Amino acid sequence: MTTTTDTTQPLVHAVNVTKAFHGNEVLKGIDMDVRKGEVVCLLGPSGSGKTTFLRCINQLETIDGGRIWVDGDLMGFDDRGGTLHHLTDRQVAAQRRDIGMVFQRFNLFPHMTAIQNVMEAPIQVKGGRKSQVKERALELLGSVGLADKCQAYPAQLSGGQQQRVAIARALAMEPKLMLFDEPTSALDPELVGEVLRVMRDLAKNGMTMIVVTHEMGFAREVADRVVFMDGGVVVEQGPPSEVIDNPQHQRTKTFLSRMR
Ligand code: ADP
Repeated sequence: MTTTTDTTQPLVHAVNVTKAFHGNEVLKGIDMDVRKGEVVCLLGPSGSGKTTFLRCINQLETIDGGRIWVDGDLMGFDDRGGTLHHLTDRQVAAQRRDIGMVFQRFNLFPHMTAIQNVMEAPIQVKGGRKSQVKERALELLGSVGLADKCQAYPAQLSGGQQQRVAIARALAMEPKLMLFDEPTSALDPELVGEVLRVMRDLAKNGMTMIVVTHEMGFAREVADRVVFMDGGVVVEQGPPSEVIDNPQHQRTKTFLSRMR
């Protein structure tokens, strides 16, 4: 695969990805393609490998087998010249820069204000000009509804507000792809909606997103495709109207009946 000129090429192309922890194989050959602009929700019972797969895309875990390409770049390897070489840590960091990730726990820097959190990576990693980075950070905080909280520290913000800052922070690096790992599951129920709303807006604006979630309403409404995983394999996938409303496999049916 080469770079971005081929518009038919999926943004994420994962082939036969395997991963084990201490001999326990948690990904047993995952194939997944995600097109540019597509929103894919990963559903499945706890322990089915959803988070691990997301972390593999971002190289927070190294895969044991298979290959993952993001926008034509083979993750973790240099595949030019016929032989595969592991990338250096610096090259891996460069690949990771194009991918935004939002975790269950917000992981903001506690000693920095909201705007400092959003500005940190563009300045440190990209070496952006401070005035420009600040302008963009203000814009991003505005887009997640937090224009008035720029100077607040994480401890002064609700969980929902912190998660929205975390989303703005990820977007500040202008990612090609956003990965969300159960972004609302640590939130009080009344704060879930405001975070989902921001994610819905992002999807509407064309961001390519892979979202691990238990929010069936969100998946039904926003996902172009739902992928149901269980036991380290993809059991079934398709539009939400098929997978959620008319699942074919018993494992999917059982999972969904427990969610209701
Ligand atoms: P899910 O996101 O579907 O709940 P995970 O990917 O978090 O599933 O976990 C899949 C399996 O991998 C679980 O059995 C989990 O305990 C195991 N696992 C995940 N990360 C690690 C790790 N760093 N070390 C050991 N086992 C892990």
